[in-house]
Amino acid sequence: MTQSHLFDAELIRRYDLHGPRYTSYPTALQFSERFESNAYRAAALLSNEALTPLSIYVHVPFCASPCFYCGCNRVITRSTTEGERYIAVLKREIEMQGTLFHQGRPVEQLHFGGGTPTFLSLAQLESVLQHIARNFSMAPAHREFSIEIDPRTVSPATMKELAALGFSRISLGVQDFDPDVQRAVNRVQSVAETRAIVDASRKCGIEAINFDLIYGLPLQTATSFARTLDTVIDMRPTRIAAYGYAHMPSNFKAQRHIDAAKLPTAAEKLGLLQMTVERLSAAGYRYIGMDHFALADDPLAIAQAEGKLHRNFQGYSSQPDCDLVGLGVSSIGKVGSAYAQNVKTLREYYARVENYQLAIARGIKLSSEDRLRRDVIQALMCHGAVDTRAIERDHCIDFSQHFAPELATLRPMLEDGLLDELDTRIAVSAKGRFLVRNVAMTFDAYLQRAAAPLYSKAI
Ligand code: SF4
Repeated sequence: MTQSHLFDAELIRRYDLHGPRYTSYPTALQFSERFESNAYRAAALLSNEALTPLSIYVHVPFCASPCFYCGCNRVITRSTTEGERYIAVLKREIEMQGTLFHQGRPVEQLHFGGGTPTFLSLAQLESVLQHIARNFSMAPAHREFSIEIDPRTVSPATMKELAALGFSRISLGVQDFDPDVQRAVNRVQSVAETRAIVDASRKCGIEAINFDLIYGLPLQTATSFARTLDTVIDMRPTRIAAYGYAHMPSNFKAQRHIDAAKLPTAAEKLGLLQMTVERLSAAGYRYIGMDHFALADDPLAIAQAEGKLHRNFQGYSSQPDCDLVGLGVSSIGKVGSAYAQNVKTLREYYARVENYQLAIARGIKLSSEDRLRRDVIQALMCHGAVDTRAIERDHCIDFSQHFAPELATLRPMLEDGLLDELDTRIAVSAKGRFLVRNVAMTFDAYLQRAAAPLYSKAI
């Protein structure tokens, strides 16, 4: 099936709008500098009352070379001394953050992202892990340590050492195996080196393996991306994230190296996504939503089947109750009903933390209206449906009154076939799943006021 079976050009033109990916609501664009360290401290102390478990995210910003599509906060360097200073400062931040959280709150998830976390040596990673264990209470069981791996810079032998440190899930950057596409984005990575990491991980007991792919890259075609998908399916990762490339060269300098004329059109991108969904579904993967797929026995697929799936800064999560402590430059956390982000440059990060100050630069404390809208948007993004009666119960509102303008905006989407139901239940159709951001955007109270072009396009 091609995209033409589901979407005509007119529909694509109308729905190819700029909009958030809703890894949080309100999104990071709504974070304010008025929310700083004291507000974060207050939110953290308040959150201790519930004693919910913690999830920790550690950002390691360094990379050896720039991938042109990249929109991450990273610093290109090959200097190992950068890592040493970063770790010293990170440890101080761990100590300061550790004092804010009750020791009765177990850390159930720990994720190292970047950048390239394995820019740090194994000894450096181990010392960071030990420091976290000294300053937080690690859950004795049911804990998951995960780390992002760049197969170009990690040897298969390293996987054994990472398993020994406690890592049980890895996330591999793959993007596309086509050599022309790889050259166009400055990330040349062979199938053999990726397969070697997968095999080595399984051999030492790391079975939970994510692949990150990107559709919409320069020179990608349906034929070339189908070959990439077949190779990926053959390696059988337990989860696959297939992100739509967002070309925003005014925001991300590296993207200026990408020739916009070589990018697929919106219709071609939608076709690539649709083909991805079909191929992965036929191979036994569940379409979790937006850009994520998982095998049926993966915790994400199980959480979705049980109605317990959540969306967070890493995409989707099977652990809804955790607060998230963000550590390292630019990292984002969620504590109680507040989001907070650290300063974005190393210079500011070092200056703050070396002076024993938290690195919080901005954030937001959610109002009751924010929490209501977050629940509606989460339900759409995670389950493709909103039980309006449950929302009424949880938030003491009359849904049809409170959201009368939004329901009116959704009516044309029902007529366009993006929704199956628009009544006491709002249900996204199979066709609407591809445009779920557009449905969710209806409930975003900030979108009209926000600078929409700062978000990527929905398609
Ligand atoms: S995609 Fe990953 S490895 Fe490439 S520059 Fe960005 S953070 Fe670094």
